[in-house]
Amino acid sequence: MILDLHEIIEAPGKSVSFRCELDRERLAFPGLEAFAGPVTATGVVKNTAGVLTLTADVEADMTVLCDRCGKPFEKRLSPRYTATLQADAEDADSENVFPLDGDGVDVSDVAETCLILDMDRKFLCRPDCKGLCPVCGKDLNDGPCGCKKEIDPRMAALGQLLDDIQEV
Ligand SMILES: [Zn+2]
Ligand SMILES: [Zn+2]
Repeated sequence: MILDLHEIIEAPGKSVSFRCELDRERLAFPGLEAFAGPVTATGVVKNTAGVLTLTADVEADMTVLCDRCGKPFEKRLSPRYTATLQADAEDADSENVFPLDGDGVDVSDVAETCLILDMDRKFLCRPDCKGLCPVCGKDLNDGPCGCKKEIDPRMAALGQLLDDIQEV
């Protein structure tokens, strides 16, 4: 969504607010199962002493998979992003600088890009999730499984040797 900034672009102290929906097709979190509704960004672009700053509050309700046990659960993300808008963003070396589109800015593109750069998140169904047993795959949150701790192969050989001796 292009937000028209011509009323504030030469007017320090002024601001213009916006609300838009983001393109969910662009937003592929690792561990994301599905979005539970539209992903929105609500915010404002403010001219502070000639510098245009965008602030966006993103809200996304989604179903994600736990990084440890793989169980799906509901998660609400509500990050706040800020970005500086410049006509010549090509020369900028900061990630938080975005280009103007004439006298406007594509606010949904800015919010989507901020969210994409922020996607290396891991989701846990609870902070102390115990995960799955690597041997039998049981969910260890439901209690311990019957697997023995993995035995060192050298110890296993020694055990076999002792068995052989006892059999003689
Ligand atoms: Zn879990
Ligand atoms: Zn097990």
